[in-house]
Amino acid sequence: MNNRHFFWLISLLLAVPWLIMGCGRQMNNPAAAQATENEPATVPDAAARQDGLFRIVTTTTQATDLTKILTQGVSDLEITPLMGAGVDPHLYQPTEADIAAMNRADMVIYSGLHLEGQFDAVFAALREQGVRVYSLGQPVKEAGFIIGAFEATGALLGADDPHFWFDPRNWEVTTLDLAAALAAMDPDNGEVYEGNAAAYTAQLQLLYTWANEGMRTVPEGQRYLVTSHDAFQYFGAAFGWRMAAIQGISTEAEAGVGDIQGTVNFVIDNQIPVLFVESSISPNTIQAVQSAIAARGGQVRLGVRELYSDAMGEPGTFGGTYIGMIAANVLTILQSYQCAGVAVTIPAWPASLTPVPPVQMSSVTC
Ligand SMILES: [Zn+2]
Repeated sequence: MNNRHFFWLISLLLAVPWLIMGCGRQMNNPAAAQATENEPATVPDAAARQDGLFRIVTTTTQATDLTKILTQGVSDLEITPLMGAGVDPHLYQPTEADIAAMNRADMVIYSGLHLEGQFDAVFAALREQGVRVYSLGQPVKEAGFIIGAFEATGALLGADDPHFWFDPRNWEVTTLDLAAALAAMDPDNGEVYEGNAAAYTAQLQLLYTWANEGMRTVPEGQRYLVTSHDAFQYFGAAFGWRMAAIQGISTEAEAGVGDIQGTVNFVIDNQIPVLFVESSISPNTIQAVQSAIAARGGQVRLGVRELYSDAMGEPGTFGGTYIGMIAANVLTILQSYQCAGVAVTIPAWPASLTPVPPVQMSSVTC
């Protein structure tokens, strides 16, 4: 091949993804825009380590945790996390420093399905620059495991529910796909990424089996999880529970009086004994429901701890890991139901599953 032919071939290879993206951007409907998430890298394989360092930026705490696990043992790799513990990703606005870090990155790893509602324009611009912008939700969507967002009335909103990570089986799909994406960017370390993914999916399977066994010991008619925003549909579906949330799927809209009154009626009608507060959301709406129930002569407890919803705990703590965050939620729910007098069995922690729940989380005073 002479130089001229080579030049045209490279131009064509570079142009194809641009043409596809151009079409995607002209479409206004959200479903079509969604299909353009996870564009192929414009410069296959060669993007990482142009200056010797593989620079990755992660948005949510879950994205950061998984990326750290999959890149263990890889040197000359830098991870810059954007959101800290307790941050609400629906509302988080990227700062100037965040945008600068993403501009410098070889790869940006985000949760996707519009969880990071304020990032859409930034991601589009990064893709135009040839940065690999990777959505963790996309492989789960392609596998057919994404469910629709429901209003409190049960009407389908037509959007995807972005909280897919709450089913550990979905997180396994994401783990394997992200490992393959990292290996494509950085083929010299491909075996390391895939080995880490194999070890971690085995841990996720242990976690799912433990959680499922415990969550299903609550009698079927009492398996209702009442929270302030609708982050737990996947969590419920994974373990045979039903959900009721005061706000809908995103925290961008405020809960109205009608939403609170509807939840009050639902809790009383179904004799639900516990309401849960989420760590990244204000407790006001759940407390309003509790007060309204008390005003009608009813009684309902708050959970023994807050639930992790869209953000994990502080780094270095049990809830600061994905496994710990899921397990902490399971323990919080089961212990809260126990305190409300429901017969519940909490299964023994699997011997090879890490991290191990801290002692103070294993028992609770009601
Ligand atoms: Zn959410």
